[in-house]
Amino acid sequence: MSVAPDTCPHIDAIATVRGPAKRECEECVKIDGWWVHLRVCQQCGAVLCCDSSPNRHATKHAHASGHPVIASGERGERWLYCYPDDAFVEY
Ligand SMILES: [Zn+2]
Ligand SMILES: [Zn+2]
Ligand SMILES: [Zn+2]
Repeated sequence: MSVAPDTCPHIDAIATVRGPAKRECEECVKIDGWWVHLRVCQQCGAVLCCDSSPNRHATKHAHASGHPVIASGERGERWLYCYPDDAFVEY
């Protein structure tokens, strides 16, 4: 993926964006929780919920695992976000 030079190497290294395998937060379903939007970890493919959701599983996962980049898992949204670089890229 070609991005502006001031963005991050993690997003730059992504050739194919991973979409959500399921349209549900895999952590919320375990605890009978609910979510607002879905995000997809680009390192391991985990489908997790956004920061507007009560449990913020995508952000927790990024901090706990060190996986830097998520994509939106919402239909019609095409963007990537890198936590360590705070970089947002539409594709
Ligand atoms: Zn990065
Ligand atoms: Zn969740
Ligand atoms: Zn991950």
